Amino acid sequence: MEILRTVAELRAWSRRERKDGGNTIGLVPTMGALHAGHASLIRAAKNSVGFVAVSIFVNPTQFGPNEDFARYPRSFEADCALAQAEGADVVFAPSVDELYPAGAATFVEVSGLSERLDGKSRPGHFRGVATVVSKLLIAVEPDKAFFGQKDAAQVAVLRRMVSDLRLAAEIVVCPIVREADGLALSSRNVYLSAEERAQALTLSRAVRQAEALFASGERRASRFIEAARETFAAVPEIRVDYIALVDWATLEPVEIAAPGSLFAVAAWAGATRLIDNAILG
Ligand code: AMP
Repeated sequence: MEILRTVAELRAWSRRERKDGGNTIGLVPTMGALHAGHASLIRAAKNSVGFVAVSIFVNPTQFGPNEDFARYPRSFEADCALAQAEGADVVFAPSVDELYPAGAATFVEVSGLSERLDGKSRPGHFRGVATVVSKLLIAVEPDKAFFGQKDAAQVAVLRRMVSDLRLAAEIVVCPIVREADGLALSSRNVYLSAEERAQALTLSRAVRQAEALFASGERRASRFIEAARETFAAVPEIRVDYIALVDWATLEPVEIAAPGSLFAVAAWAGATRLIDNAILG
């Protein structure tokens, strides 16, 4: 497995493998601190394309001024070992200056969608995500790019971006990987104290409840939201950011749930913001 540091090297690698290997290329963008959720993306990529690049880049533009950019977990050696074990061909780990040259003034904004759900709570977040992912997609020109349903709103923003920019990559969405007790894996789970970790289970509980309601035939959005509010109210230490039932493509609220609707929650356990969701049906 090669470790590349510059966009030029990454582009050259992708072009070479495509041409000489006559092969397909997959891209798995990450911020590192890799866990079994990331591993599942790399595995899915390896099973469906010839060559896989994993990017590891803590992207400053997707963090707000008071967020955790500086203390975001970083574990480069272990990340490379995991990527290699899952069959990655390349790890792309650029410096901030490499992706954002001095004076960089170009950003990608998916308007509307970027102000909903996490974008509403974290202004500028999706602009940063869209900008960095478009830089990666333009450099690699992958046949497929792999993302987790864990960040379902991000998937909606990136699908729209790829469609609007007429990029060639197919966006592949992989299921949420969870701990045995239901907690969705996240690089930020390391921030949680034992008490906060227990509180954090409220998110997956609310998500499972929504899935059960849908399975029982309930379709009124108000009922899904009320049920989740009650579930969160039973654990007063956790602070709800949002509980939403939306159209997955537009992130606009729906009144009546349908197969494919996105039920999503975000909440604070102590100083850590966590998200979880289900695609209903
Ligand atoms: P991150 O490093 O947190 O930016 O995540 C990189 C990619 O891994 C994103 O596409 C995430 O949606 C995905 N991911 C993160 N956590 C999980 C999880 N628990 N299950 C599946 N995919 C995940």
